[in-house]
Amino acid sequence: MKTFQNFIAGQWVAPATGEYFENVNPADRSDVVGRFPLSGTEDVNRAVASAKRGFAQWSRVAAPARGDVLRRVGDLLTQRKAELADLMTREMGKPLRETSGDVQEGIDTAYYAATMGRQLSGRTVPSELANKWAMSFRQPIGVAGIITPFNFPLAIPTWKMFPALVCGNACVFKPAEDVPHTGAVLVEIMLEAGLPPEVIQLVHGAGEVGRAIVEHPDVPVVSFTGSTETGRMVGETCGRMHKRLSLEMGGKNAMIVWEDADLDLALEGVLWGAFGTTGQRCTATSRLVLHDRVHDEFLSRLVDAARGLTLGDGRKKGTDVGPLIHEDSRKKVERYVDIGQAVGADLLCGGRRAAGKSLDDGFFFEPTIFARVRAGQRIEQEEIFGPVLSVLRTSSVDEAFAINNGVKYGLSSSLYTRDVNLAFRAMNELANGITYVNAPTIGAEAHLPFGGVKQTGNGHREGGWEVYEFYSETKVGYVDFSGRLQRAQIDNYLGTPD
Ligand code: NAD
Repeated sequence: MKTFQNFIAGQWVAPATGEYFENVNPADRSDVVGRFPLSGTEDVNRAVASAKRGFAQWSRVAAPARGDVLRRVGDLLTQRKAELADLMTREMGKPLRETSGDVQEGIDTAYYAATMGRQLSGRTVPSELANKWAMSFRQPIGVAGIITPFNFPLAIPTWKMFPALVCGNACVFKPAEDVPHTGAVLVEIMLEAGLPPEVIQLVHGAGEVGRAIVEHPDVPVVSFTGSTETGRMVGETCGRMHKRLSLEMGGKNAMIVWEDADLDLALEGVLWGAFGTTGQRCTATSRLVLHDRVHDEFLSRLVDAARGLTLGDGRKKGTDVGPLIHEDSRKKVERYVDIGQAVGADLLCGGRRAAGKSLDDGFFFEPTIFARVRAGQRIEQEEIFGPVLSVLRTSSVDEAFAINNGVKYGLSSSLYTRDVNLAFRAMNELANGITYVNAPTIGAEAHLPFGGVKQTGNGHREGGWEVYEFYSETKVGYVDFSGRLQRAQIDNYLGTPD
């Protein structure tokens, strides 16, 4: 079995703790991907000290040249796309077409970052005083702490690190403990592309490593994606320590299928939205609101289609749905099935561990649909993070929108309709960071911002140019070349009356 190491101070090194954990394939727990460091605070301290040196060097490199390194990262990711997708499926479980998409998102993010190296613009505006210039520009911040979840093992780290690097920061990266292999190969690629070694540090381990990064006084900027519960703890520490923080957290996303919808399209959309990535997406469709008039027909087609999905190893051809990430997730999903049944929701399909020859060794769970769910019930309110869909019904637009908006999360929403007025109304009134029309609740493009409102986020966004605002400090410069004292708000260009 291969033993992997941290990358600290320009070297692949063993953790100071001397401890390791095993990373297993969730589709077959007898397949061990490797041993990875179970690091501790001492490893984080060394990584941050080195990253400070990396920052001193990298922040002086011109931004277009920093962008060029990211372009080479994009080239290498492209060359190694199939290999990366394969190793990602092995440690995370989602089918190859999804892990290929995950790598492609990293490639898109790299090429976008490369262009941003030439666009880190500020503003030059007219000064209110004569012979004076007024302008703003961007500066790097320092060492960025990057803490990521398991469900997009490559895309999410790239969303964070690539803009952080183009802005001139150094990164201390802690990938989720369930997907350390993808994180390690990503760092190898970044180094091969020419990133100076001390600019990137990789520290494997559990939540303790994340906490040590967040609490380190020399990490002024933290970007975290994960559960709302963990994000709250991260936020408390960062608030106390006056750190800049981006939080991307949980979701409870609804798809609304209206009476005039193209039902074939909506059916494909809900299957992909609810059961893709085995429901383990922040943007997963976990609630379906059906118009009364289409409810019965659509639901019966949906249940048939869900029963027809093929569960299995994501590396096998024909697999639609892979396993859950680990046994604890499966137990959590089981608990929610019990909770749904206890309140009288109709379990129409699934609701149990998937059994069968090739499934017994993995953390598989059958695609599950509950009907007759009511707004406010726990399965309708809480993030389950598994293949469980709750179906509600109504014939009132106001009620459908209220159901969508009646949860503590606000990531994405979706409406299937042919009514253009209703579509635009939905974009205005659904309380989410992203609203899709005639598409499921998932799917992000690198050049638009991604993130949610309410307890999904804290106002920042990944992606788009917006994330470059997050990773850079705005500095303002005034140059007065009048040769005399000009007092802002007192001496204007007409001169003062005295
Ligand atoms: P998680 O919160 O368990 O872990 C996320 C990361 O935080 C991991 O690397 C973990 O080791 C680390 N961590 C754990 N405790 C910590 C602590 N005290 N301090 C600092 N770091 C700590 O989340 P997960 O199970 O890996 O991912 C699933 C969650 O992520 C879901 O809630 C999902 O909705 C969310 N998510 C959100 C988005 C988004 O963009 N909004 C995207 C993907 C996933």
